Amino acid sequence: MDKEPKKTLDPCRNCKSEVELKTRRCPYCGILNPTVKVPEILKTIFIIIVVMSIVSYFINN
Ligand SMILES: [Zn+2]
Repeated sequence: MDKEPKKTLDPCRNCKSEVELKTRRCPYCGILNPTVKVPEILKTIFIIIVVMSIVSYFINN
């Protein structure tokens, strides 16, 4: 009946090793915030904004 409490583990986004959730640094590959995933859509929006600013910079000159 005595179940061990499960540690919350999540795969590292870089090396896929299981690391503790919300750990600040992966103990295997050393990247920061290994369990924090940036959604692909946010990356896409960010890239679009950067491209738009560069384009408008050249248009205004
Ligand atoms: Zn890792």
